[in-house]
Amino acid sequence: MTQASRPFNFSPGPAAIPHEVLSRVSEEMLDWHGSGMSVMEMSHRGREFTSIYEAAERDLRELLQVPDHFRILFMQGGGLGENAIVPMNLSRGGIVDVVLSGTWSHKSAAEARRYAEVRIAADCANADGRYLDLIPATDWQLSRDAAYVHVCSNETIDGLELHQLPDLKALGSDAPLVIDCSSHVASRSVDWSKVGLAFAGAQKNIGPAGLTLVIVRDDLLDRALPICPSAFNYQLVAQAESMFNTPPTFAIYVAGLVFQWLKGFSYAGKTGVAAIEQRNIDKAALLYQALDASSLYENRVAARSRSRMNIPFFLRDERLNEPFLAGARDHGLLQLKGHKSVGGMRASIYNAMPLEGVQALVSYLNDFEKRHG
Ligand SMILES: *Cc1c(COP(=O)(O)O)cnc(C)c1O
Repeated sequence: MTQASRPFNFSPGPAAIPHEVLSRVSEEMLDWHGSGMSVMEMSHRGREFTSIYEAAERDLRELLQVPDHFRILFMQGGGLGENAIVPMNLSRGGIVDVVLSGTWSHKSAAEARRYAEVRIAADCANADGRYLDLIPATDWQLSRDAAYVHVCSNETIDGLELHQLPDLKALGSDAPLVIDCSSHVASRSVDWSKVGLAFAGAQKNIGPAGLTLVIVRDDLLDRALPICPSAFNYQLVAQAESMFNTPPTFAIYVAGLVFQWLKGFSYAGKTGVAAIEQRNIDKAALLYQALDASSLYENRVAARSRSRMNIPFFLRDERLNEPFLAGARDHGLLQLKGHKSVGGMRASIYNAMPLEGVQALVSYLNDFEKRHG
């Protein structure tokens, strides 16, 4: 299929991958660069795969401007796996401050409790237990002696995004900040001076499921608890350049192609991450404006906390949910059903979603409202 004939995929994850990347993967599937092998068939220690891995690492470092005193680890276990792997590596069995901002940070807190004493620095739920706004960092209750502070910087299910990373030092905490950025990694620039560790499952914004990205400051590598499995020990994985055991080679290869695509991406006179960030801002604005202008749909998240990546919305008349989804499918707009815990609809518009996809969705929203509003 050409790009024009493919439907637009709004899946929250595994999610859409840029068309150019999929085409390239398909061209290289049987014979990568004259090697006579598919990437899937290569030794992870061989010359060919080493070049793929090194390029992926270099490109990501350049794209996100990751400083030299951070290590980039290509791991496995997914976002949920990291919820255990992070406390096993960083908590020293002590205190962990967690900001509850939605479904994923709840899961992180629950998992960390197996290894550490979890303190809730802020619970952003409203009186109905819904997550519709983030509590500003200046109002977080930070422990004096926490091993780290965990924040989910984009709550995929609830549709909340932390647009400015907090400066924990300025808030009186010496603890490193850990961010679960699974669903908005590489969608915007990162101020690494505020971060101790960032992790992300790949399947939302950078490639296929199976790869988990960990970007960790050097001085945090050597704190693992003895119970931490060797394959999840950051120090051992870093020493082995992510080859402590077989990494998810094919997923790393595809992510590497996504990084190349991002490096060459241009939009509104910008290139790379600045360009994709601008397009993400424009896409989200277009969709939120359409929802806010409508009397049939609504998004309930406070404007300052709205995610650029995941936009949940409701039809005020729930009986229209099924016809809405069926009509969307007929218009080539896929996977718009909301998460079961929130209900309604959700449009996930990650980096790979073109502006045309959001325009097509907005035009469908407007047509549907004309017919049913
Ligand atoms: C999807 C997601 C996860 C879970 O990822 P898995 O790879 O399925 O374990 C964790 N955190 C966030 C913010 C997510 O969006």
